[in-house]
Amino acid sequence: MMWLTEMFALGLIAGSVLNCVIWRLPVMVNRQLAPADTIPQDGLPARFNLFLPRSCCPRCHHTIAFYDNIPLISWVLLRGRCRRCARRISWRYPLVELATALCTEWVAFAWPPGLQALMLALCCWLLIALACIDLEHMLLPDVLTLSLLWLGLLANLQGNIVPLADAVIGAMAGWLALWGVYQVFLLFTGREGLGYGDFKLLAALGAWCGWQALPALLLCASISGLVWMGGLRLAGRIQRAQAFPFGPSLALAGWWFIAAPGVG
Ligand SMILES: [Zn+2]
Repeated sequence: MMWLTEMFALGLIAGSVLNCVIWRLPVMVNRQLAPADTIPQDGLPARFNLFLPRSCCPRCHHTIAFYDNIPLISWVLLRGRCRRCARRISWRYPLVELATALCTEWVAFAWPPGLQALMLALCCWLLIALACIDLEHMLLPDVLTLSLLWLGLLANLQGNIVPLADAVIGAMAGWLALWGVYQVFLLFTGREGLGYGDFKLLAALGAWCGWQALPALLLCASISGLVWMGGLRLAGRIQRAQAFPFGPSLALAGWWFIAAPGVG
């Protein structure tokens, strides 16, 4: 019971950190991609990283005090509004915190206390960050996909989830599979159907769950992606042939295959 409580609390804290990463990392990546001598046009301070400047209200720029930054609880106590100007704070923040805590709890249920469970929780956190950033920016930052890849190989160093050889082949096969799809799509349509981030993400998932799981994982991701895209198109939210992020579907399928109970 102690383990479950601790992991839930850890998940809430991780969710709070993820909120910060999801909002700040794309800004940092976009600045890195811009030519070296350009002044950032994003309206944010010149010195901008994961820690600076401190979190503040987007309207009144009031710095958020630590007691107003407690995951989930602060949002509920403040009824989703800034303490000073009463502007609405996006429901995305508590949602990410809750989702992260629930995913972490799921890992805690499925795995005994120990390093293995913590690494799987970390895997879930990276997947949540990737899914949210791709959803909003159509971007899968290298620092997240490659970290996930190395962590997957590390987690399988002793063959804890799958044998190391399966993990290494999984990483290569994952990358190659989507690279192949990309090339075929490009050949027939002249358009890029996937981004390089998608290849790296599937490589990372292959490192976690081994090459044997890749066909089923890719099938699940494709089905969930198609269902979601169909829903958005029916709702008139996207146009035909409009670019559509595949990362969230891959992340969801990856989470299901790697961290869900009964698989490990
Ligand atoms: Zn405010």
